Amino acid sequence: MKRNLDDIIKSCQNLKQKDLTLVKMAFKFAQKAHQGQKRKNQDDFIQHPIHAAVTLAKIGLDAETIAAALLHDTVEDAGIKSSQIQQNFGDQIADLVGGVTNLSKIRLKKNLTCLKHDDRTESQIENLRKMFVAMAKDLRVILIKLADRLHNVQTLYALPPQTAKKIARETLEIYAPLAHRLGIGEIKGQLEDLAFPYVFPKEYRWTKSLVGQKYQDKKQIVQKMIKILKKELDKEKVPYFDIHGRTKHLFSLYKKLVKFDKDISKMYDLMAVRVITDSPADCYKILGFIHQIWKPLPGYIKDFISMPKPNGYQSLHTTVFAPEGQICEIQIRTRQMHYQAEFGVAAHWHYKTKYFSPDEKNAKLPSKEFKWIAELAKWQEKIKNPQEFKDTLKLDFFSDRIFAFTPQGDVKNLPQFATPIDFAYSVHSQIGDHCSGAKVGGKMVPLNYELKNGDIVEIIVAKSANPRPDWLKNVKTAEARSRIRNFLKTKGLI
Ligand code: MN
Repeated sequence: MKRNLDDIIKSCQNLKQKDLTLVKMAFKFAQKAHQGQKRKNQDDFIQHPIHAAVTLAKIGLDAETIAAALLHDTVEDAGIKSSQIQQNFGDQIADLVGGVTNLSKIRLKKNLTCLKHDDRTESQIENLRKMFVAMAKDLRVILIKLADRLHNVQTLYALPPQTAKKIARETLEIYAPLAHRLGIGEIKGQLEDLAFPYVFPKEYRWTKSLVGQKYQDKKQIVQKMIKILKKELDKEKVPYFDIHGRTKHLFSLYKKLVKFDKDISKMYDLMAVRVITDSPADCYKILGFIHQIWKPLPGYIKDFISMPKPNGYQSLHTTVFAPEGQICEIQIRTRQMHYQAEFGVAAHWHYKTKYFSPDEKNAKLPSKEFKWIAELAKWQEKIKNPQEFKDTLKLDFFSDRIFAFTPQGDVKNLPQFATPIDFAYSVHSQIGDHCSGAKVGGKMVPLNYELKNGDIVEIIVAKSANPRPDWLKNVKTAEARSRIRNFLKTKGLI
């Protein structure tokens, strides 16, 4: 679908005149910069930044982010200097564009060639996600990258099959999980469903054929239930904002089918009824009414309001015996919970607008096993407070960690100020013990070189090389320190 400046402006619902002027300026600049360039699908290149900008405008982001989305490929692909962005658009937008350009330099793709997932690849992928967040430094950089990726997977058909598959796999392993952790259900679902057929073509066709008729049958039941429910709630004067049907995304359906041993008759949430109301108290009240109309299926009532999911998702879920012998899921949530579920961290920008009264209570988030997921979620909570807004955009919870690659593409997660010696010991103790030099990005560096995010580190080993006392000053990891000490002690050097 071709889009133009009007589509961007129409999607910017809450921007003031001066914000729109900025967006238009960025559009003109990008259009000129990409003049004559084509995408692989033969569209004018400008279509790509326009699509990214529309995605971000639709989820309600600010003018700076939308402008930066329009400019995001001008430095990387159109030879514009970052100083030009800075002169025309200021530091903030220049930083955002710089952040996006910087992220595209991480060569995630080469690391993701494995079809079989074991614990080692899982932890590698997790480290890649962390590195991605660490290098982004600003939340909005990640949001722009997600919008960028969304359009890229929408146009995968124009790429050679192997390239398309690589990008699709990276999308499933890095981008979609990040969108999920940021609570942006809408983008996560789209990323997964677009990447699905490229990574798992057989499984995609199988899932599609399985749901074909089922969706139609369910649709009718859901419409019927919505009518009954509206009538009942009106009669009892229970306030609700909206009742609608929702279809499960195909990839998440596939994952669930695999988990349930591929039995689609057990997929009660293929299509669900969703009730949006005003307060948490009303949610519980409506749940009560629903159970009076349709009997609940034992064991399927889930209270994610008092116990939110780790990414902050809140809702009441129940599964009921619906008309005509069907079984159907119903989700009940407040408007605020709904925006949170669809837009996650981006919902902040919605909170600034008319949708919410300040007294809507935020439920406490649960304690989590994974610290950084907890941090992301916590920061999602914090971001609702406009005073803390500016600070919370900084993604500094990895500021004490460094992520660097081996030449084979393994990621090593090391403390800040770590050196090639730490790196060598994290690969293998023997490599540490015989480390004689190091190359970063193909160039020789001293052994006390401070590693940076995204560095590709090659350790040069020599049989004759051994730990020296001065190494102790140049290491940050306990592992390296104790190995060096042990060696020096046995040699009587300390
Ligand atoms: Mn791009």
